[in-house]
Amino acid sequence: MNSDEIRSSFLSFFETKGHKVLPSASLIPDDPQLLFTVAGMVPFKPIFWGKVEPIYRRIATCQKCLRTNDIENVGRTPRHHTFFEMLGNFSFGDYFKKEAILWAWEYVTQVLKLEEEKLWVTVYKDDDEAYGIWRDLVGVPEKKIIRMGKDTNFWGPAGPTGPCGPCSEIHYDLGIVEDCPEGVECTPANSDKRFLEIWNLVFTEFYQDEKGQLHPLPRKNIDTGAGLERIAAVVQGVSSNFETDLFKPIIRREEELFGVKYGESEEKNVSLRVIADHARAVTFLIADGVFPSNEERGYVLRRILRRAVRHGVLLGASKPFLYEICDMVIERMGKVYPEIEKKRNLIRDVTRAEEERFFKTILQGLEMLNEILEQSKEIIDGESLFRLYDTYGFPPDIVVDVAKERGLKVDLEGFERLMEQQRERSRISRSDVEYARAVRDYEELAKTQKISFVGYETLTHESTVL
Ligand code: ATP
Ligand code: MG
Ligand code: MG
Ligand code: MG
Repeated sequence: MNSDEIRSSFLSFFETKGHKVLPSASLIPDDPQLLFTVAGMVPFKPIFWGKVEPIYRRIATCQKCLRTNDIENVGRTPRHHTFFEMLGNFSFGDYFKKEAILWAWEYVTQVLKLEEEKLWVTVYKDDDEAYGIWRDLVGVPEKKIIRMGKDTNFWGPAGPTGPCGPCSEIHYDLGIVEDCPEGVECTPANSDKRFLEIWNLVFTEFYQDEKGQLHPLPRKNIDTGAGLERIAAVVQGVSSNFETDLFKPIIRREEELFGVKYGESEEKNVSLRVIADHARAVTFLIADGVFPSNEERGYVLRRILRRAVRHGVLLGASKPFLYEICDMVIERMGKVYPEIEKKRNLIRDVTRAEEERFFKTILQGLEMLNEILEQSKEIIDGESLFRLYDTYGFPPDIVVDVAKERGLKVDLEGFERLMEQQRERSRISRSDVEYARAVRDYEELAKTQKISFVGYETLTHESTVL
């Protein structure tokens, strides 16, 4: 099955089980607590919280998601992305654990036809009900039902109080024993390489009060999420999401552009994967109304975009290229997500303009960096890093790469201290000049492209882990 077939098979499977199939919501949630849609349940949060009555009790979606918490992993593990698609089925006070588990199993074994022997499951340590369903109704052998703790198998409320509950995950055995511990059985609890988490079933059955106590909810909900890219990798029998049909055409385009081959070296593979991943994120973020800036969502977009450019530079690029990869993303995904097709020109223009700006930065910054390198003996001090960053927006991670090649150390802590001081200063008197200018520029651009402009709302977020 190709990924388009997987996506539609999931939705029609749940349609036959009485679910209303809804289109993906925007990557930008209607929720001041969240920067991005990080899971399929996000658009339904008001229903989960009991604030809104659901029109449909059973819903299935394929939701566009963006996560920055996994960004360090992107390109280095076969399974993590920033932008990805999450397949999910939801029950609002309707069916519960039994149906959720039985249907998930039916879908993976009957529709996807995954071998039962390769499937393992986890449950929350105290969730005897889920354990019993897997063992007695599905027939999974006890040794393949792993009880796990709060960290992985209990979903806390998205704040101090709120709905929460245990979850149960389906893992696929990839047969790689590299990181399996010796002397004990290798299970999803102790090996990330051998076991690939493909589907998470969350059973929202409690309400956590101010004291942290759990009370059974009168109406229990089901919230599940399965990564389309991971499912595609398993179904297509490839060892990485990046080798599925979702990514292949994008990577092929990169090979042409950079004149390198995927598989040439691990280092180059990482760069090719990072660029492919980030091009998808950039494409979909711009399509949903985010523009590069120094604030909030726009800042995340800017960092993702610059990260992609940096990897392009590692592959030998000296001029904008990402906008062309974004074009390929549109080729690949535009049928399923017409919004990116519709905004093709905007995505191209914004990406290219930002790239051009950053390339200038990089070239000017490189000059300063060379001077700094000449003056540095064993270590590049934090002050120099800060100067590079402050003057040219030159990211310290590029300096780290270059320094490594020359056997120099880098004082990242010193840099962080200076950054913190600067953040403190700007908290006290924030200069809005550049911000206002960027807003105006992009608003103008947005007008010519007939799109709505939603990228600059002021939000609170903890930190961007970029
Ligand atoms: P992992 O442990 O692999 O980081 P997770 O437990 O954080 O995944 P969930 O929050 O349970 O993931 O999300 C539900 C599903 O979404 C996962 O089972 C996986 O299939 C998919 N998924 C989660 N994070 C990512 C990601 N960064 N890239 C691609 N797919 C993801
Ligand atoms: Mg994760
Ligand atoms: Mg997990
Ligand atoms: Mg999970």
